Amino acid sequence: MSSCSSGGSTSFALVCPQCGISCKNISMKTIFHQVRFPEILDIETGSYYYCADKSCSVGYFSQEEKVIFKNQLKIFTELKNNKLCYCFDINTEQYVDSLKDGTAETIKNFVIQKTKVGDCACEIRNPSGQCCLANFKQLEKTLNLDK
Ligand SMILES: [Zn+2]
Repeated sequence: MSSCSSGGSTSFALVCPQCGISCKNISMKTIFHQVRFPEILDIETGSYYYCADKSCSVGYFSQEEKVIFKNQLKIFTELKNNKLCYCFDINTEQYVDSLKDGTAETIKNFVIQKTKVGDCACEIRNPSGQCCLANFKQLEKTLNLDK
């Protein structure tokens, strides 16, 4: 693991009330940096989970069944455009292109290095609250499967 502080060591899972996938527990700090005004005023502190399925309209939901939709999040457009790294503004498309022209290594190393020294902000910028490097890993997995 990198030294990126986000993600947390204790992650509990709960099933999304809409799509049924298993969702990870996220911090209130992530919620308060992600939800738009005025919806943010209605948020009560509790145990919240993030639905990572892009086709599902549910963004966050709590154990108390409070639901915040993805279109109520500040990064909704970025999410729809498949943002890969929210901290350093890298799109999935850009990274896929860089894999073709051989600059992917440079980009990834930049993110790894910044993450190591703590210059990332995944916990507040990434809607999942998780380290953006997880997105890179996931993408690489997907690309390998397609081969
Ligand atoms: Zn869902």
